[in-house]
Amino acid sequence: MDHRVINFGAGPSALPEPVLEEAMKGLLNFQGTGIGIAEISHRSKEFGAFLSNVESLIRSQLGVPSTHSILFTQGGGSAQFSAVVLNFLARHRLLHPELSGEDPVLDYVVTGSWSKKAAEEAKRLGGSKVNIAADARKHSQDQKSFDNIPPHDAYTFSADPALIYYCENETVDGVQYSNNESAPSSFPFHLLKQGSLLPLVADYSSSFMSRPIPHLADHALIFAGAQKNIGPAGLTVLIVRQDCIVDVDAAAKLGAIPVPLTMSYKTLADSKSLYNTPPVLTIFISGLVLQRMKDQGGVEYYAEVNRRKAEKVYEVLKTGKSKGVLHGKVKEGSGSWTNIVFDVLGDGLEAKFLAEAEKLGMKSLKGHRSIGGIRVSLYNAITEEQTDKLVAYIFDFVEQNAP
Ligand code: PLP
Repeated sequence: MDHRVINFGAGPSALPEPVLEEAMKGLLNFQGTGIGIAEISHRSKEFGAFLSNVESLIRSQLGVPSTHSILFTQGGGSAQFSAVVLNFLARHRLLHPELSGEDPVLDYVVTGSWSKKAAEEAKRLGGSKVNIAADARKHSQDQKSFDNIPPHDAYTFSADPALIYYCENETVDGVQYSNNESAPSSFPFHLLKQGSLLPLVADYSSSFMSRPIPHLADHALIFAGAQKNIGPAGLTVLIVRQDCIVDVDAAAKLGAIPVPLTMSYKTLADSKSLYNTPPVLTIFISGLVLQRMKDQGGVEYYAEVNRRKAEKVYEVLKTGKSKGVLHGKVKEGSGSWTNIVFDVLGDGLEAKFLAEAEKLGMKSLKGHRSIGGIRVSLYNAITEEQTDKLVAYIFDFVEQNAP
């Protein structure tokens, strides 16, 4: 497939070519049924078996314990910004019927534009009681950029929040929690109430399946859209602890906000994610990607490769900085493995950087419109070899354009 370029886009992003080739066959004939995957009933036994295998592929690779269900839905991360508020307010109301009439507090950690958006939706739906447990902008160099993961002493969690929310990888701003617990930029799990069923919610949209999830079992909910690491857009994966799958109608009778059926985790769990027609084609391609991941050594293998890919890019950024050509936007230690953001300094040099990269078959490197600059997205489908090609290009660009 020599017409294909390297797509460093932030999502929907690159998919592995062998999977796309296999998917083409499935479009014509899904597992020998003679019916294409986009045409087959989601209630057929063949699709049912495929879906439950997708669940096992996620469960086994991430080590999801039996306390947690894996559910599939639609609407992306954005629909979860709303669904988490409604389901967790319902849960809190059932746990504390005596508090009827009082709005519980919702704790949000804001580290970038996606968690900011989620907190804004919580304010819309959950009333005014949103506590910003930490705001990374207060710890930034200019007091307004999302350029860091806040230090552990920056967090103030509430006593009994209905949910505690954070975004593990901020796709636009390029900051990510460290997966090394002793790093200052790790998530401060030790500050949370120990030994209780914490309502801890994490947005893993842009880092799902890129590496193991620290403290997975302590989470009430982890959600992620498929369109970064595992498949096309249209599928949202939820890993939800079973005590968070609650009877939202019983909660509504106690005064909680009613939850649309398609957003209720109980509806999804009771129907085994088949309450309504799921995105069959996206599930199919995601299943092929997850199977390929497993065959290659699983999420642990990808974690190693992804770590090396990111290290190589950060290393060349250091060279670019020392030569006065590049400037990383994120504080050292807070940088994402997946989305690496930087500026090209000097008049007209950013456009030149993008144009020359494109000539070499490397596309979608332009930063998000809200912060500009360059963004390199290194999702699982980007190989180490492709990363090396980009790094070599950046190195040459720096050499040739140093003042
Ligand atoms: N959260 C993060 C971290 C994201 O990167 C995105 C999209 O890129 C979203 C949420 C929103 O996801 P969706 O577009 O699937 O609604």
